[in-house]
Amino acid sequence: MTMGVGKIYILPGGLLDIDRSIFLSSVDMGQTIKAPVYSVLLMHSQGPILIDLGLNPDGVKDPTRAWGARAKLIKPQLSEDDDVRVRLREVGLSILDIKMVILTHMHWDHTGALRFFTHCPIVVQRDEHRFAFSPDPFISAPYMPNHFQHPVNYKLMDGDGLVAPGISVIKTPGHTPGHQSVLVRLADGKAYIFPGDAIPLMENLTRKIPLGNVCNAKQSFESIYRLEHLSHLLDATIIPSHDLTVFEKMDKSPRALA
Ligand SMILES: [Zn+2]
Repeated sequence: MTMGVGKIYILPGGLLDIDRSIFLSSVDMGQTIKAPVYSVLLMHSQGPILIDLGLNPDGVKDPTRAWGARAKLIKPQLSEDDDVRVRLREVGLSILDIKMVILTHMHWDHTGALRFFTHCPIVVQRDEHRFAFSPDPFISAPYMPNHFQHPVNYKLMDGDGLVAPGISVIKTPGHTPGHQSVLVRLADGKAYIFPGDAIPLMENLTRKIPLGNVCNAKQSFESIYRLEHLSHLLDATIIPSHDLTVFEKMDKSPRALA
């Protein structure tokens, strides 16, 4: 058996309509783009690990139950197949097979299926966990308590750290106070950075533009530079979190990305 991370799968989780300036500060305001949502499945020798938990599957049938009053504003294109439970089944797994979940941050489009994972550690930065439960009002809307107020076993991180052989978290604040990215090195040596919403679009990286939706624009900018530097140093490919062009070109589950 391969030690560490053997394979990586991208589990598609629906599409959002979003203003480009939400991802790229002050760029193309009023221009709506399609943004994919996905989870990442890491097949690890200690058991499968998930990064991020997409959209609340209740939203397929009952958007108001899933997203409250905001259901009128946000209209995700979400099918029953986009449910992480269905995506796991497609590769022969169930929720209980998952040994660990890593959340890049606790916004609604990354915690939708969190309530199903009460059996395994949920790795999140302490600053993020703290902020999600008591966010500053001007950026509170993306934190939906019905997504994360569940009896799950949070494993709180204080900055960078190894979470399993071949898998590290890197603290990348800016979009949120305790945002983290995930560095994965496969057993065959190839490396990837899953930056979450530190780098939602490839353009954030290539044009060095912070997000519009931030708690701290300077930190967002610095996190982009930090990840770029690490990707060069470690020869790691950065996979942006919400970039349709990148997403369409990638191999997606049930095919492995790598
Ligand atoms: Zn997001």
